[in-house]
Amino acid sequence: TAREEVAEDIEGEEKVPTRVTHSIVFVTAEAAPYSKTGGLGDVCGSLPIALAAHGHRVMVVSPRYLHGGPSDKNFTGASEVGSPTKIYCFGGEQEVRFFHEYRAGVDWVFVDHPSYHRPGNPYGDQFGAFSDNQFRFTLLCHAACEAPLVLPLGGFTYGEKCLFIVNDWHAGLVPVLLAAKYRPYGVYKDARSILVIHNLAHQGVEAAATYSNLGLPADWYGAVEWVFPTWARTHALDTGKAVNVLKGAIVTADRILTVSQGYSWEITTVEGGYGLDELLSSRKSVLNGITNGIDATEWNPSLDVHIPSNYSIHDLSGKVECKIALQKELGLPIRPDCPMIGFIGRLDYQKGIDIILSATPELMEEDVQFVMLGSGERQYEDWMRVTEAQYRDKYRGWVGFNVPISHRITAGCDILLMPSRFEPCGLNQLYAMRYGTVPVVHGTGGLRDTVENFNPYAQEGLGEGTGWTFSPLSRENLLAALKFAIQTYREHKSSWEGLIKRGMERDSTWEKAAVQYEQVFEWAFIDPP
Ligand code: ADP
Repeated sequence: TAREEVAEDIEGEEKVPTRVTHSIVFVTAEAAPYSKTGGLGDVCGSLPIALAAHGHRVMVVSPRYLHGGPSDKNFTGASEVGSPTKIYCFGGEQEVRFFHEYRAGVDWVFVDHPSYHRPGNPYGDQFGAFSDNQFRFTLLCHAACEAPLVLPLGGFTYGEKCLFIVNDWHAGLVPVLLAAKYRPYGVYKDARSILVIHNLAHQGVEAAATYSNLGLPADWYGAVEWVFPTWARTHALDTGKAVNVLKGAIVTADRILTVSQGYSWEITTVEGGYGLDELLSSRKSVLNGITNGIDATEWNPSLDVHIPSNYSIHDLSGKVECKIALQKELGLPIRPDCPMIGFIGRLDYQKGIDIILSATPELMEEDVQFVMLGSGERQYEDWMRVTEAQYRDKYRGWVGFNVPISHRITAGCDILLMPSRFEPCGLNQLYAMRYGTVPVVHGTGGLRDTVENFNPYAQEGLGEGTGWTFSPLSRENLLAALKFAIQTYREHKSSWEGLIKRGMERDSTWEKAAVQYEQVFEWAFIDPP
């Protein structure tokens, strides 16, 4: 590779061993700070940078969303590159354009098409998911397959020997296209693909008749065909056949990764497999889990620009100031001694909001403050507004998506609650630990992998956790864990300090994950596709 040649030049005769470097192409529906609705955006915004720092050539391909709002300015640093490219799908010819920004060692490539220019978020608006998402993400996948071949980035293309990292169903058509559309013509013979599953609940399922839209050869239908279970069919003659893009990726990708080890096992079980458990089990030999890291610059209490006082493990005084400022900002009584609980996340069944709902009246009998930031299902947003009116001096519900406030809640609260029903990795608990905020979580998936349960009665050296995990998920267990946390906060100051410090010391950097990713890259290139 170019990097090895340079190393050789520098060292003259002496050959220094260098790491193997790859040309890596991330394909994703979102990448922070350009676009973000959740963890997918965070991961695709920071893992590429960590890999580029290891010497890999890294490109990230995602849509150029123009929602007609303040987020449009995120794309102003990117300028048009290459020529408009024709894509054949949905019974016709589509033209996409590419925009490019080189930042933090990474080529950020944005696919431009009118279907990405509309109000809302990457997937929908206040009326629900966009009805043409299959079209919008089919286009993304075709464009992403062309990008390494046609875009002269920094003077030369990535070429055919690249490694595609395709994220969730939106990018799932990429490995199918490599296998069905390119390799039969001798293109991308040496390329490999890794499917990263951030959330198995979304699979890109549409009616079987939409197959012809995908721009795949007719004889590849079997790769994406998926059959609904009998109970989900509408009538006796309904064969239940559908097109499932994620399924296509699972069967064609060279390797499969999930964002934590716990989740990589859960998706092979009936309970966690969303109908794909048997298929995933059959691919166990190429399935692994790597826990996400966090962006250690954006989420660093000693550098954070969104919080009123910076602090670190060596001097926690700023954390109390953050708490007081948050109470002021929210109009809650200013009480640094009162345990403050936070929740940040999508208001979705996955996040266990229904359990929070049922536990809140009893929680409000305690001397606590509770703040929730989130947007999503209308019924939960309404509930937050009503609950705020009911408990004016204890509860705040902030409806919306607001990154600076999410930082201030993470810094200002003492406890972060995450009762997710399932959680592929979860990032908020990692941010919380870094900010000395103790997570109380349902022991599932990445939450169980990352939060070590605290047991004050364990022998010395054992039970020295970083938070509380409760299981199974129920109102009673959530309340018991929270009350235990509150009691520890009030009555056992030194235990609390220990919890905070162990959490802040936890290594959640991408560096650790990047090295594990590199191991999987190596495996991907061992076997021929
Ligand atoms: P998921 O990807 O399932 O939504 P994660 O915990 O992996 O959950 O990641 C969620 C990310 O989105 C975190 O960075 C979190 O802070 C952010 N986030 C979620 N909801 C909001 C919100 N309402 N305002 C600001 N940030 C939010």
